Amino acid sequence: MPMTSARTLVFVHAHPDDEALLTAGTMARAAREGQRVVLVVATDGAAGLAASHLTDDLAQIRAAELDESARILGVARTIRLGYADSGLHGDEQQQADGPLPLCQAPVEEVAQELAQILRDELADALITYDPNGGYGHPDHIRVHQVSIRAAELANTPQVFEATAPRDLIVKALKLVSTFYTFPPEFDPTSFERAFRARSEITHRVNVRDVIDQKRASMRAHSSQATADSGDRTLAAFLRIPKPVFTYVFGTEYYLLRPASND
Ligand SMILES: [Zn+2]
Repeated sequence: MPMTSARTLVFVHAHPDDEALLTAGTMARAAREGQRVVLVVATDGAAGLAASHLTDDLAQIRAAELDESARILGVARTIRLGYADSGLHGDEQQQADGPLPLCQAPVEEVAQELAQILRDELADALITYDPNGGYGHPDHIRVHQVSIRAAELANTPQVFEATAPRDLIVKALKLVSTFYTFPPEFDPTSFERAFRARSEITHRVNVRDVIDQKRASMRAHSSQATADSGDRTLAAFLRIPKPVFTYVFGTEYYLLRPASND
């Protein structure tokens, strides 16, 4: 493999399992093509839902699931920033001897931490979320803010936002909801304000060749497919028959942010 073509891509995610849904195919493809794929995960995901018999050790369980997912995708290095999950409403409080929730840590402080990783890795590109944090989780919005600032501090040449075309999603969800019942935690109308308009997307990555790795990466996060009652979004995704799964998850979408020349 010629040294000159190997690039280092740093993917920044909020929770263990976000990498599986949004960027897993791109990561697997890049790794297969000989690029260095680095995964940074900001929180331990301990505020995530799961069946109650798992919740006591949820941080450890999710760390192990993340390692397995990273192995499947060919990630060269996984870094946990170790913040606590801020929760869906951003109001999780710090536990007695636990880490600070991500949204309570100053943006500048977390950005410095991430910038150091970008410098150490001589990152060619950083991949983060769009300003909506995709569907609006406070930790995702914060990851976007922190990433943009970190790339500025480290002079990282390219910054991509992993996103999705909201118009296509809304249309597809309306269609699917005519014959498929989504779990109660899943609100299809929330996508009308989420992600990016189709016209804003600059890069589409075809990940059909690595769709088995993407599915296996989702499956690795098995605690996120459990609940005491009712259904979970991840479990519902994993039940989708493979041809439909490939159709829905076979493309990943990015917006390359314009270079800031100030
Ligand atoms: Zn998340």
